[in-house]
Amino acid sequence: MITVTPLPAFSDNYLWLLHCNGQAVAVDPGDGQVVQAALRERRLRLAAILVTHHHPDHIGGLPTLLRGWDPPVYGPRAEAQLIPGLTRLLDDGDRVTIPELGLAFQVLAVPGHTLGHIAYHEAAEKLLFCGDTLFVAGCGRLFEGTPQQMYASLQRLAALPGDTAMYCAHEYTLSNLDFARQAEPGNFAIGAEIERVRELRAGRQPSVPSTLRWEQSFNPFLRCMEPVLAKSAGAHAGQPLVEAVEVFAALRQWKDGYKSALP
Ligand SMILES: [Zn+2]
Repeated sequence: MITVTPLPAFSDNYLWLLHCNGQAVAVDPGDGQVVQAALRERRLRLAAILVTHHHPDHIGGLPTLLRGWDPPVYGPRAEAQLIPGLTRLLDDGDRVTIPELGLAFQVLAVPGHTLGHIAYHEAAEKLLFCGDTLFVAGCGRLFEGTPQQMYASLQRLAALPGDTAMYCAHEYTLSNLDFARQAEPGNFAIGAEIERVRELRAGRQPSVPSTLRWEQSFNPFLRCMEPVLAKSAGAHAGQPLVEAVEVFAALRQWKDGYKSALP
């Protein structure tokens, strides 16, 4: 049985540690000290590292970890120049097997936040590590890709089985939900989720993971076909929006300048 432990880091990152039988996999180790401390505390051996994209808060801990360990370091081939320490370069459709933990991940290319961003899906354990592509009630900013690319990437993730647990890399949920209720007034699933997450956060618990099915009910970036969202995004953009991808682009732009009333 695999345990997935969130390791909070920086102001709002989660580094994910998967472990079982004394063996561990670290996902997006932005802070090496945090991962190292967790390994020591639980007496785990680092069997592999998975990286989703090149941003420093996802890879900054690699030098520290690689001084003490010699695991395979998996990450996107398209960003290999930007990620010192990668040893296994991945493309869309590749498989990553980690026999020490009995895990087999399918690699999905999900460009948008960065151009080479990848996600890792473990079908048997129903786990998805999607970095900064999909967030609970939100999605990543478009630093490198186009709205078309990001929309297609989100659709790919949304097409995975609904009971897949979605592990994203940041605790942005309450501010995302605040935007979601502005964008789609009248969606009761948003209010229910705000209550659930407020309670979790009051107890200092992470709101992550979510499930893909659950996300479909309140995440505006997965609901671009909804007429209410098309209407509110169109009102914000100052023009009627027809295609889902246009609604997505307008929502993302609106969110970029949105000041949340929730933390
Ligand atoms: Zn990022």
